[in-house]
Formats: sequence, structure tokens, C-alpha cells
Amino acid sequence: MAKRRKEESIKNIKLKQPDRSGPKDKTLLELAGERDLFAQADKRQKELDRLKKQAAKVGKLQKIPKPGDDDDDESSSSDSDDDDDEEGKLSPTAERIMETLLWAVCLSMLHFTLDTLVHHQYSADRIVWPTVWTRAIQAFLVFSLLVYTLHPHASNPTILPGLPSRYQSTLRQIIFFASSVFGIIIEHCTVPGTVALTFDDGPYIHTARVVDLLESYGAKATFFINGENWSRNIDDPATGYPDLLRRIDRLGHQIGSHTWSHQDLTYLSEGDRRFQMGQLESVLSTILGKVPNYMRPPYASCDGDCLPFIESLGYHVVNFDVDTRDYVYKDSPEAMQTAVNNFNAALDSGGPDSSFLVLSHDVHQYTVDVLAPAMLEKIKQRGYRAVTVGECLGDSPNGWYRV
Ligand SMILES: [Zn+2]
Repeated sequence: MAKRRKEESIKNIKLKQPDRSGPKDKTLLELAGERDLFAQADKRQKELDRLKKQAAKVGKLQKIPKPGDDDDDESSSSDSDDDDDEEGKLSPTAERIMETLLWAVCLSMLHFTLDTLVHHQYSADRIVWPTVWTRAIQAFLVFSLLVYTLHPHASNPTILPGLPSRYQSTLRQIIFFASSVFGIIIEHCTVPGTVALTFDDGPYIHTARVVDLLESYGAKATFFINGENWSRNIDDPATGYPDLLRRIDRLGHQIGSHTWSHQDLTYLSEGDRRFQMGQLESVLSTILGKVPNYMRPPYASCDGDCLPFIESLGYHVVNFDVDTRDYVYKDSPEAMQTAVNNFNAALDSGGPDSSFLVLSHDVHQYTVDVLAPAMLEKIKQRGYRAVTVGECLGDSPNGWYRV
């Protein structure tokens, strides 16, 4: 019953057609016209334009009065619900700071990303996060300084007063370029036609095979060694390492320092850096009766006050210009072929007077069994001489060590 009654009531509802007769009262446009709002808006726009021109002339933006306050500038702040864009405008200096922060954050994040990638590969799957973060913060500070002082901005149109304006931009570019490359150490051999093969991180169980191989080619090389890294107790005769190091020396190869335990020197205190260098010196002094004058910093890292300190200890700091990246391709003979290709490509790019300072590691099996023979074969084929770092820099064997 109830259902039927409901259906009846629905049928009895009369639907109305929509009202299409149009507006009977005044429209908003008509209301605005009546109240003279269009004229007021024009007047306001003219006033804004006038003030902008005035501000540009004076060199700074002024507070712009609101409509209705034309004759009473001081009271304009009372009208708080006026939606005015000009009010939110920053001073040129604040704009410059914001722009600097934006650039510095973007560039330092890019630095962070690239640093993570490089660190990941170079540290053999071990990322030292405090190091990466510290570098990113340093990069942020450097980028902030560079962008703030060198990026053209309305508030600093001239960088050198007195210089014609057409040269200001060129000067900025020169300073930026110079600041970007400042502090980078590039190490090359100086004697034409030489290849200085260097083997880092040993001595280790594969090192003796490299020495045999070099002997069979009549080639010389340089070993940047650690005291405690892949091997321990290098001064204990039972390990065979003292004899091995003496053999390396006797055959005319060069022994350089790669620090005691392969720490990143950039982030060590002066005392720890002194220990890293001094401990290996005292052990080598016992084994060889002399101390190296050449060193290579682990991770090729010796920034800030590290470099002057290491040099003050009497060391030449040696990096490289050919990275075989054998530490990336160390896991199989097939993978190591990529390191061989890297080396071959570098040598193929040079002429008869070129020279090369090559990074590899005698602690990896396939560096010793695949890369090293291939490198020696390529050197022979291209007519270069495989020599020590000292010789490729024109330094006589007397200069390689001190007593
Ligand atoms: Zn190393």
C-alpha cells in the first residue's frame, strides 16, 4: 500500500521549464559602470605606471598607495584586504640572495649526485656518506659565493668599477672560469715517449707475478704501497713481503707511498696525516734502508690544507692521466677487457712524443693476469718505453728516495 501511494505522488508532480527570460535586474557590468569602477581602474593603472617609472629612476621600488588613499599616503596600510602584487615585491638585494640560494642549492645537489656516483665507483662499493655530505656543503658555500659575486644582477651591474660596461660580462666569465679550475692538480709525465705504469694498494699475493711479468718485458713500473690494507705485517719476514719489496727495488722499479692504511687524507687531522705517512716511512726504512719521495693519496684525495702538509713532509704528490678503471672491472677476465680497452684507447690517441701516467691496482687478480700483460704488449706495439714515475718526470733515481 505504502509503495503504491508513493508512485501516485510522483506522477502528480508538475515539472517546470527553466526560466530563459534573461536577467531582469542590473548586471554586474552595469553596476560597475554606474559606480565608475572602470574609470577608477584606469586611473589606478596610470598611477602604478607612473610610480614604476619613478622607482626605476630613483633606483629602488617605493610603496605604492592604494586607491582612495591618493591624498593620504601615510594611512594606506590600514587597507589590509587589498590584493596587491606590488606589495609582495622583494628588494633587489633580497632578490639577489634568493637567486643565489636557488642556484647554489641546485648546483650543490648536482655536485652531491655526481660525487655519490664517483665515490661509489672509486671507493669500491663503499660510500663514505660523511665525506659526500661534507663535500656537498663545501660546494654549496663555494657556489653561493661564486653566484652571489659573479652572476649578473640588477643590484650589482658592475663587477669592476671603471671598466667599460661591454667588458663587464667578459670579466665575469674569465673570473668564473679561473675559479672553476683553480686547485685542480693534473699530473702528467714530461718525458716524451714514456708510459709510467703504476700499481696501487699492494703489496699483495699477486704482486710477485707483476714483477715477473715486468722482468720478462724488460719494463719498469712504480708501486704505490700501503702498510696495512690488503696485506698486513709487511715488515715480517714470514710474510715474504720484505723480500718482495727489496726485489722490486733491486730490479729498478720505483716504490712510492700510498699511506699506511689507505685513509682519505683530506678528512684526517694533521696528527693522523703525519701518522699515515710516518708509519710507512719507518717500516720502509727498516726494509729498504730508505724512504720514498713520491706518494699518491688514496682516492686521489688531498684537498685543502692536506696538499701543502704532505708537500711539507718532502713528498711529490702523484696522480695519473690514464685511469684504466680496473677496480671497476676486477671481477672477471671478460670484464677486465674493458680496462684493457680503456688503456688501448688512451695509447692510440697519442703520438710518438706523447706520455702517459697510468693507474691500476696489483691487488686484483685480473689486473695482474689480464690487464698488465695486455698493457705491456700495447706499449711495445706502439713503440713507447715503460718506465717509472720518476723517470717519466725526468727525475734521476737519486731523487726517488731519501735516507
Ligand atoms: Zn689506493
